[in-house]
Amino acid sequence: MKKRPLGQNFLVNADIAQRIVQLARIQPDEPVVEIGPGKGILTRLLMQQASSLTAIELDPRLCRDLQNRFGDGDGGDGDASSFKLIEGDAAKFDYGSLGAGLNVVANLPYYAATHIMKKLIHYRKHIRCMTLMLQKEVAERLTAQPGQRAYGSLSVYVQYHCEVRRLLEVSAAAFSPQPKINSSLIAVTPLPQPKVQVEDPKLFFKMVHSAFFHKRKMLKNNLQDWKHLFREENGSTRLARIDLNRRGETLSLHEFADLANYLHAQNG
Ligand code: SAM
Repeated sequence: MKKRPLGQNFLVNADIAQRIVQLARIQPDEPVVEIGPGKGILTRLLMQQASSLTAIELDPRLCRDLQNRFGDGDGGDGDASSFKLIEGDAAKFDYGSLGAGLNVVANLPYYAATHIMKKLIHYRKHIRCMTLMLQKEVAERLTAQPGQRAYGSLSVYVQYHCEVRRLLEVSAAAFSPQPKINSSLIAVTPLPQPKVQVEDPKLFFKMVHSAFFHKRKMLKNNLQDWKHLFREENGSTRLARIDLNRRGETLSLHEFADLANYLHAQNG
């Protein structure tokens, strides 16, 4: 496969495009944001449903075509008053500038999918829901539960802030040019409050990051920064009530929160 510099694997399956827009459950009067509209297969369908659509595309050449097709001027596919095209990088965009209650829909470029999603989560207070297509392996990490191979710090980060659900599996054949990997469509819905109560989120994420640093190692190796708080109990090394012979990949969000809150209480 020729490498696509901007992750330009365009969706060419009209049924899947329809399904994605249905699954985005666009509400009347809801502001919709599309990331990476590309050649507009989703854009056209979103324009039929959304009262206002803001599309963010990095490639200037595609922007010209999109503007001609959906922007002002006649003969286009859309309603000019409701379409706004922003030429720019979706990983650097200030989504707060678009107001609140955003419904974000995107077939994300593979190379930047995680980066863009983290940016969207940063702006979660402005977002009602996201329907995102990304590489299957990333979707597995985002939805992974403790004990599963794909479970890691990305799973904890996203599940702390959002509810994540797999919606649809999409094979490589639905794209042109065809990538070597399959894709998944996921729903990411920001939670009104984080999933677990954490006194010091910075400390929580620092500890989670450390816990997964060497994935195959036990917590007692990965959490050496807090060694002074380890205790020997019933023949095992513990921190709070957690047995440090366990690996990070077995800990639930609640257990990570208990650990972090204990460290915080000890001025960790
Ligand atoms: N939505 C179209 C579709 O479904 O066929 C295109 C999807 S394609 C996988 C990703 C699109 O994102 C391309 O149009 C690409 O130019 C654009 N893109 C790549 N990097 C971007 C970035 N950092 N910010 C905004 N758009 C980007």
